[in-house]
Amino acid sequence: MSYYIPNSKNKDEVLAKIEFFKKTDLSSLFIITDFNKTLTKDQWNTSWSIFPKSWILGEDYVKDRNALFAQYNPLEIDETTTREQKAQIMNEWYIKHFELFLKYKLTKSQFNDIVWNRELIKFRDWVAKFIGLTIIDDIPLVIVSWWIGNVIESMIKQCELLAENVFIEWNFFGFDANWLASSISTEKIINAFNKDNFKPDELTLDAINWKENCILIWDSIDDCDVAKVFPAKNILKIAYTTKDRQKEYFDDKDFDIVVLDEDFGFVNEILER
Ligand SMILES: [Mg+2]
Repeated sequence: MSYYIPNSKNKDEVLAKIEFFKKTDLSSLFIITDFNKTLTKDQWNTSWSIFPKSWILGEDYVKDRNALFAQYNPLEIDETTTREQKAQIMNEWYIKHFELFLKYKLTKSQFNDIVWNRELIKFRDWVAKFIGLTIIDDIPLVIVSWWIGNVIESMIKQCELLAENVFIEWNFFGFDANWLASSISTEKIINAFNKDNFKPDELTLDAINWKENCILIWDSIDDCDVAKVFPAKNILKIAYTTKDRQKEYFDDKDFDIVVLDEDFGFVNEILER
């Protein structure tokens, strides 16, 4: 296993915290995790980019999608735009991309062909085992992402691991009776800039509300803020990154530990009893 503890942290305290989580009663535990490039392989596509990469919706869809990217991506990374403005801009981008699914008539079967294509998107090794461990021990597993909820739901279902302890907090769209993409939930759009202040579903809150210990697993440096939405007495914050990007985390003040492995063995070792 390959990992390090950021400079801002006391190494002994972090190692003691990991030992505490290895021994703690699993009924006191819940897990919050990101999806893209945390549960999925880092060098692969995201739950949005699999759609253009598949070419299943045709060349015109890809052109329109790329035009949206060219319009919104500069705003997403612009340093002069406030977080609130960015949250608004991301919602607009999300809805416009969804409108392309309507325009190009995305069907449920095309959707499945795209999501189940392992050349496009894949879980990291041992993620299926990780989800299985949370099911066996009934540990609430909350997956938060601003991408397309249907994708994770479908991928987990395909592994036959969609159980009652798995809560997916992100944006879903619906299919109509003819299996055409038809509707989108706009009342609660989660995006990269409002992950710290959205309201989770009641069911999720009920499942975690008396639990004291939380493991948070993420791949990007700003997203630890999501912990504000799910308060716990003790939180172990694990970052997953690659050797190329590890420098970003050397002085990080949020994450306790930064894992450079491509698989999920580090987390599984904490859960296995
Ligand atoms: Mg991610």
